[in-house]
Amino acid sequence: MGITLKNAAYIGGKWHESSSFGKTFPVYNPANNEVVGHLPYMGTQESISAIEAAANAFPQWSSLLPKDRGKYLRKMADVLTTHKDEVARVIVTEQGKILNEAKAEIGSSIAYLEWFSEEAKRIYGDIVPQTRPNQRLFTMRQPIGVVAAITPWNFPSSIIMRKLAPSLAAGCSIVIKPSEETPYTALAIAQIAEEAGIPPGVINIIFGDSKKIGNELCTSSKVKMLTFTGSTRVGKLLMAQCANTVKKVTLELGGNSPFIVFEDADIKKAITDLISSKLRNAGQTCICPNRIFLHKDISKEFIQELKLEINKIKIGTGLDDTSTMGPLINDAAVQKIKDLIQDSCKHKGEIIYESSWNAPRNGNFNPIVMLKNNQDNTLIEKTEIFGPVFSIFTFASEDEVIFKANNTNYGLSSYFYTNDKDRIWRVAEKLEYGMVGANNVILSSEVASFGGIKESGIGREGGKQGIFEYLEDKFIAMGF
Ligand code: ADP
Repeated sequence: MGITLKNAAYIGGKWHESSSFGKTFPVYNPANNEVVGHLPYMGTQESISAIEAAANAFPQWSSLLPKDRGKYLRKMADVLTTHKDEVARVIVTEQGKILNEAKAEIGSSIAYLEWFSEEAKRIYGDIVPQTRPNQRLFTMRQPIGVVAAITPWNFPSSIIMRKLAPSLAAGCSIVIKPSEETPYTALAIAQIAEEAGIPPGVINIIFGDSKKIGNELCTSSKVKMLTFTGSTRVGKLLMAQCANTVKKVTLELGGNSPFIVFEDADIKKAITDLISSKLRNAGQTCICPNRIFLHKDISKEFIQELKLEINKIKIGTGLDDTSTMGPLINDAAVQKIKDLIQDSCKHKGEIIYESSWNAPRNGNFNPIVMLKNNQDNTLIEKTEIFGPVFSIFTFASEDEVIFKANNTNYGLSSYFYTNDKDRIWRVAEKLEYGMVGANNVILSSEVASFGGIKESGIGREGGKQGIFEYLEDKFIAMGF
């Protein structure tokens, strides 16, 4: 069976086709703004049906032996491996990233499935030493119940997998609302799940009116947990909606990552890493460097070298294999970048580089821009840029840059470059972030926990912690 652009939602193992649904919405290709297809515009009623389907599937799925749930996930990983290239093309079509990045995203999706297929077997509890003679004490872990996942468009496969794989491994069923910008990738995942034999109702996928769907998912007492990745603004809103049912939430929200280059750093490595992280997905990742802090003694040399390297980037459509950077997701994203640059320039910011490009004019392409002299407390200093803009600040001392790096409500990822081993420990411990890259920009991996502090989120995904979020601890005190 091949993976198709499925024009349908997926509830209780059944496909709800656009053709038999009253209202539909279009999905666009960001590289040319052509319509990819139309999907059912769902709302409250369909959310109730999807929750019902997940609740009905839960008793049987959760009572499978953990190793058997693991086998299902392993099968999903194998099926996805078979269809890797097809799903990668779906990602490029609706999300815009270059094909190699889409393939890497599928690689990471497979890795999450494999990792959690193993973790299913390791849901250990504890035997606790008793406090009275005629007593024995235990804790066990049980699946939380129906999980709701609301996901964004920037990693339409791997962000879903970070939530789906641990949910299923823990014994939970799930209702997923992907972004309406990239629903076809979620539907490709549903096709993979179907081919792998995941029972009906264990995975459900709905989309359309995100406010109505979000409201139902957050307020339904049948949903026991919400896991969300997206903006801090929407995360706060959903968290508030979950309060009434005291629902567990995990949130992976925005970032404002500092990238610090000290005077003793390996400049070449720092530049290579900066470009790879900053321009991944055209700068549309929550962990990409947002504020670049250069020590004043090396800033001139660094900027010169950086320009030379950026000149090698080729902006173009994702399926053109000579492209090294694709378009932004939509017109609003392009406009937001323009506004941020304009505001920076109003406050002494200076454009020192703008790349030329000849990608299709009808797509949402954006040049790479480098700005220096950015000032504290300006929009560009406070906002998650989410685009290919290198926003440069300079600093004179370690204390000054640590203060500036931490002076934000965000706390997702941070990076610094130095060859001083004492400084590595000192700075890593002082940075107020969930994740720190010391001479390294690769932070996302199935084997380690991913997540933020402050207004960047609650909870962790991946690693040994990733499955715990979907489990409740139960304490059993036995007397005799
Ligand atoms: P992004 O800027 O990455 O699109 P958003 O937070 O706007 O971040 O979107 C992330 C996810 O949240 C998407 O699936 C989007 O449809 C959904 N979303 C946006 N607004 C709401 C809302 N009011 N209620 C529920 N979901 C929402």
